[in-house]
Order: sequence, then structure tokens, then C-alpha cells
Amino acid sequence: MAAPKVAVVGAGVIGLSTALCIAETCPSCSVMVLSDQFSPNTTSDIAAGMLIPHTYPGTPMHVQKQWFKETFTYLFAISNSAEASEAGIHLVSGWQVFKNTPKEELPFWSDVVLGFRPMSEAELQKFPQHRFGQAFTTLKCDCPPYLLWLEKRLKATGVQMYTRKVADLWELHSEYNIVVNCAGIGAHQLVGDEKLFPVRGQVLKVHAPWVKNFIRDGDGLTYIYPGIHRVTLGGTREKESWSLSPDPGATKGIFDRCCSLEPSLRGAQDIKVKVGLRPSRQCVRLQREVLSQGGVKLPVVHNYGHGAGGFSVHRGTAKEAARLVGECIAALQGSSLRAKL
Ligand code: FAD
Repeated sequence: MAAPKVAVVGAGVIGLSTALCIAETCPSCSVMVLSDQFSPNTTSDIAAGMLIPHTYPGTPMHVQKQWFKETFTYLFAISNSAEASEAGIHLVSGWQVFKNTPKEELPFWSDVVLGFRPMSEAELQKFPQHRFGQAFTTLKCDCPPYLLWLEKRLKATGVQMYTRKVADLWELHSEYNIVVNCAGIGAHQLVGDEKLFPVRGQVLKVHAPWVKNFIRDGDGLTYIYPGIHRVTLGGTREKESWSLSPDPGATKGIFDRCCSLEPSLRGAQDIKVKVGLRPSRQCVRLQREVLSQGGVKLPVVHNYGHGAGGFSVHRGTAKEAARLVGECIAALQGSSLRAKL
């Protein structure tokens, strides 16, 4: 069989990292990224990019932990290299604070991040409305720099990228041997997945270079995530809302909530409002499927539905998707061998 041609649909953090893992694990493959939007116009560009996992109720916990660990290890190595600032990857320390002590004092990812510990009484004095807290150091991906870095890596490995809206995965069957679906919320229409729904998120990106530590309210709604150039203030979570228009009331609410956690933010400047749709699902859809019409088959690997935690697990899910692509190639090679006999 000639070099397999693989099309990856989608150029957010999931599509780009999946294409990179496929190119790394299968150098003989010809990989192409097809997407109707590239950075800076994807949901991934809106994200804060913090490595604090979101929980997928339909995915076994040990699998989620493995994805997070692989992603953390991969990005930690980048943060410790000369490429760190170009890739937009950096370590950031801070606090997750709770008004009431949570039932689960040790989250499943506590031994993956660095230096996880309960906050001291002295630290808690910074947050008079909160009674309990956790201090740790994690990683943050600044977007779009990280997406641009992934694109650069892809080009260096020979992966080509084309602007194209795919109406139906089957339309790719005559050009490609394998299709990988990383369309994020676009998969709702592309493959008619009714289990996939948007969770609208509005954030503010502000200039406040004196804010060096992250602060996250344990309810997950209010957060302050400092990046290399801008601080992300969040947020909102509106299930089933498809609106990409900023809501001025939400902007004021986010700003006030963040200022109550970090009063110095009242001096923040150049406030930009961004809205994105988290591609949410009970579990990430990471599986093989074979489409078939009139005896012709097209192997597909799905990798979408990362909800609020795509950055936190992207490398782990990309590795698994690349492994599934490897299985598809082995199956194709097996059937072409059988056809020759
Ligand atoms: P996307 O980035 O949406 O990419 C999908 C791609 O598919 C796009 O390029 C799109 O153009 C393309 N596409 C779609 N349909 C088609 C089609 N029919 N044909 C061709 N191309 C198509 N996660 C974290 O881990 N940490 C955070 O701190 C964090 N903060 C967030 C804050 C906000 C406000 C939001 C909204 C999300 C946040 N997330 C965070 C979640 C994270 O952004 C997502 O999980 C992640 O971006 C999903 O990536 P994706 O590549 O699947 O989707």
C-alpha cells in the first residue's frame, strides 16, 4: 500500500496536536489539516489555556488522569526549553479557594501538578470570604502563540494545511485513506452528534502585568489566569447557548467578581471581551468508526468533545487518536494484502 493519506479536520488545539502526533508516530503518512478556520479564529484562541482538568463524567478517571499527565509532561518539557516563550508555555503558581471545605480535598490531578498543598492560614488571609484553599504550580498555554507554534511544527514535519469547510466526512473518501474528526463544536453539524452541546464562555483579556499568581474560585466560575502578555478573567458557563455576542452584563459581573478576589484589578487596562463555545459532552468522543457506501469504506477516527478542558488533556487525547490511526493503517494494509492474495 502507498503512503496512507490522512486528513485531519479542524485546526484548534485538538486538530493541530493530533496532526502532530500522527506525523510523529507515522512518518510515512501524508498528513493534511483541513479547516474552515485557523488561529486566531478558533474556540481554542479564546481559552485561558490553564492546565487544571475538567472532569468528564463518562470517561474513567484513570484515563482522564493519564491524558492530563501526558499533557503536563509534554508541556513541562517545552516550558523548560529555549522554545518556551515562542510556544507561549509557562509555569504559573497560585491558589484555588473555597468558601466551604470541598468534599474531595485531594483532586485526582493533585499529584500531577507541582507542589500541591493546602493553603496556610496566612495565605488564606488574602481571601477573607474563603475558608479553605489549595496552592500549587501548574502550566499555562498562551493562545494563540501555542497554536501558531503547533502550526510551525506541523509545517516543519511536512504537514500541509488548507482552508476548507467539510460538509460531510464522506466527501473526503476519494482523496484520503483515513479521516480524523477534530471539529470541536462543529462536529454537532458535521456528524450530527446530538450528545455534543455548547457551553458558552465569556472572558475578559486585560492588561494587568502586576498580577503574577492565578486565583480560581473552587466553584470554577470566577478565575484570574495570568499569561505572558495578558491576564484572562472569567467567566461564564451557559449550557446550550450558541450566541457568540458579548453580553455587557456578564462583562461587568466577571470584572466585579474578579476584583473581589484581586482588588488591584480595578486598575486593569485595555479590557477586551471574548466569547467561545466549549464543545461539551459527557465524555470525549475518541473512537474509530468505519463509514461505508456501496462497498467503499472510509476509516474515521473521532477526537472531539473536550468541553472546558481541551488544553488540559490535548496531548494525551492526541496520542490516543494517533494510536487509533495506526490501527486503521494496519487494518488497511491487512485488507490490501488479502486483496492481492
Ligand atoms: P476548536 O478550537 O473549536 O477547533 C475546532 C476546529 O474545527 C476549528 O478550526 C474549526 O474551524 C474546525 N471546524 C469545525 N467544523 C468544521 C467543518 N465542518 N469543516 C472544517 N473545519 C471545521 N480548556 C482548558 O483546558 N483550560 C482552560 O483554561 C480553558 N479555558 C477556556 C475558556 C473559555 C472561555 C472557553 C470557551 C474554553 C476554555 N477551555 C479551556 C476549553 C478549550 O478551549 C476547548 O476544550 C478546546 O479549545 C477545544 O478545542 P478543539 O480543537 O476541539 O475546538
